[in-house]
Amino acid sequence: MNTAEIAETLRARLAVVQAELARLEQATIQPLSPKFAEQVGDLEELATNEGLEVQHIHEAEQIMAALARIDSGDYGSCSVCGGEIAPARLQALPTATRCITCAA
Ligand SMILES: [Zn+2]
Repeated sequence: MNTAEIAETLRARLAVVQAELARLEQATIQPLSPKFAEQVGDLEELATNEGLEVQHIHEAEQIMAALARIDSGDYGSCSVCGGEIAPARLQALPTATRCITCAA
């Protein structure tokens, strides 16, 4: 398995996620509109952004954990049974920590 290639994919994805997080941060610090009718929309957008932010933070954490496993040589081993995670599964889901059997 080519972990160097996977690490590159993960780092590229991490950069995208971090850029998106920075964009969401910017959106979050916008002041609310002075009109109550518009504030409803603003708050809804804020709630949506926060939901997205949580998802992105979660994804960034998974990516960093996967990169750490590549560094330590643990990448591709199932965290439950210790068996090998199928390369096709890692290709589809590079942050997978469990083999298909244990994830099911
Ligand atoms: Zn397993």
